[in-house]
Amino acid sequence: MTLARQVDALRSGEQDLPALGEAMHAAMTRLYPICRSITGDGVRATLDVLAESLDLERRSVPSGTQAFDWTVTDEWNVRDAYIADRQGRRVVDFQRHNLHLVSYSAPVRATMTLSELRPHLHTLPDRPDWIPYRTTYYNRDWGFCLPDRLLRSMDEGPYEVVVDTTIAPGELTYGEFVLPGDSTDEVLISAHVCHPSLANDNLSGIAVATQLACALRSLESRRYTYRFLFAPGTIGSITWLSRNADVLPRLRHGLVLTGLGGPGRLVYKRTRRGERSIDRAAAHVVARRGGEVRGYSPYGYDERQFNAIGFDLPVGRLSRTPHGEYPEYHTSADDLSFVAPAEVAESYLAVLEIIDVLENDRRYENLSPHGEPQLGKRGIYPTTGGKSASDAVMAMLWVLAYADGSTSLLDTAAVAGVDFAGLRAAAGTLEAAGLLAPLP
Ligand code: ZN
Repeated sequence: MTLARQVDALRSGEQDLPALGEAMHAAMTRLYPICRSITGDGVRATLDVLAESLDLERRSVPSGTQAFDWTVTDEWNVRDAYIADRQGRRVVDFQRHNLHLVSYSAPVRATMTLSELRPHLHTLPDRPDWIPYRTTYYNRDWGFCLPDRLLRSMDEGPYEVVVDTTIAPGELTYGEFVLPGDSTDEVLISAHVCHPSLANDNLSGIAVATQLACALRSLESRRYTYRFLFAPGTIGSITWLSRNADVLPRLRHGLVLTGLGGPGRLVYKRTRRGERSIDRAAAHVVARRGGEVRGYSPYGYDERQFNAIGFDLPVGRLSRTPHGEYPEYHTSADDLSFVAPAEVAESYLAVLEIIDVLENDRRYENLSPHGEPQLGKRGIYPTTGGKSASDAVMAMLWVLAYADGSTSLLDTAAVAGVDFAGLRAAAGTLEAAGLLAPLP
């Protein structure tokens, strides 16, 4: 099976896209309960699950390792954490929801009144039933997150406060999966793996990247080599960059995948330079799907590390509504119900269409350039009418009209205002009929 065939089958409904959405949602459901952070058991447990479907190479980098301007932090792990009232009832309990504990909280055992405890409690007064997500990676502190409604029901106490965590030398862990292609030139697909029980940010990116890796692995051939990176945000990508100087010159295209569920439309964020091949491919696909294309900004996810001037890599970002622009972001409301299988499925197909452009965009030479070739005598002009037939004919005419050896299929799609995949299919038909020759 070729990638083009996979894309066409999913687009036509011949292959079951909704079932793929359900499968990706099931993968997210499995990963959801794990308490991830930038280091620790949760990252390893997540990579273990991914390793069931991919030959993932797990890399470990010791705490204290220098990575450019950053140092790999001590490893954080949680045994338990709670706030209990005088009757011993756990009012706030990490075992019920891992967002209750501020990530990287230092160990504490104390008896405290509510007033003493209050500076360590985080709520969202305008969303009184949601638990916020807070971290304190680089500042030694501790805290709990809870619904504001629960905080307002608590009396002065005193309370038993237990944060049974360890912060100690260990390792930073990330996973890599490489699929060789005809060329050693690479496409980087990156998803962060450092968020606890949050579905859209970041399980949707992990699920789509994993599904993509499985799909590309099943191909008989690939133009590019594909490298999948599952690393903790910021420190993980910077550490990876610091250890892969030999890989970086081969990176031709890249995508950060995150926030691929939720009701919003697709949003592509361009690379810093803004007009790289990945920008043109992704902008085409996302715009055709009614999505939005945005310019670069030095904030967001790991695209800001890959695009940093010292690397200047062509890595864009695909999401649906970006971080911070939906109220559920970084709260307990970013749960499995926020991320519908159909939304993740559409995001997946968009990523596949972008890869289709990277793999199959090329220039062609029209072998019958003196007037319109007679398609009917070659059996490729449909004898019955109908909308899709005429679209297919139009696609062939567009390809022939611009197969001048210097205009690529994607260029032609832009001129014609039509879909790349349709032109790619038409080019295949014309090539088989001997009317078109691909150029190297
Ligand atoms: Zn986040």
